[in-house]
Amino acid sequence: MSTRNRSGAHLALMLGLLTTSAAFAAAASNPGAHEHGKARLEVAIEGRTAIIRFESPAMNLVGFEHDPRTPEQRQAITDATGHLEHHALLDRSGDTCAITDSRVERLAGRADPETHQADHGDHGDHGEQDHHDAHSHHDDDDHAEASSHSEFHVMQTLACDEPLAGQTLTTGLFTEFAGIEVIEAAWVSGSGQGGASLTIDRPTLTLSR
Ligand SMILES: [Zn+2]
Repeated sequence: MSTRNRSGAHLALMLGLLTTSAAFAAAASNPGAHEHGKARLEVAIEGRTAIIRFESPAMNLVGFEHDPRTPEQRQAITDATGHLEHHALLDRSGDTCAITDSRVERLAGRADPETHQADHGDHGDHGEQDHHDAHSHHDDDDHAEASSHSEFHVMQTLACDEPLAGQTLTTGLFTEFAGIEVIEAAWVSGSGQGGASLTIDRPTLTLSR
């Protein structure tokens, strides 16, 4: 008889512990500091269940980060969201994991390309702390490069047909989203944790030490 019959709350707790580990602390506390081309994936496993968190700059997934301005851009966001909702972020070969829950959010950064301009002209006093975000470049009144970043965040729960410990999981994200160059992945289970940098040539994460 299995005693490994816990609720998803336990997994979510493990994922929380993973997220606060050193590897992810810096990025997690400063979402605006993301780097285009890179994405993060964290997975907590127990038995046949996995909870996965995926975070990526929107640039990697739709090619822009500003709010959509055209029907094509709105469609790109809808398409990316739909894909992330309906495809397992990780799976064993043969699609043996079923999605039991999937939530996708597009988080817009501070929408400042337009509204920012008003108070950006004269830097008379430097009292405004929040004026300085992750980007250190001061582009005076030149807003040719909009500084508003956005990200997609996905939280997904999988039910797989076999226990996941020791398995190698593959992500299809690289083939779906050409803008992703590297995924920094980490996993945690009741008995261990590990990580790997995933690329299109090596899109796999092995869940063993
Ligand atoms: Zn960005």
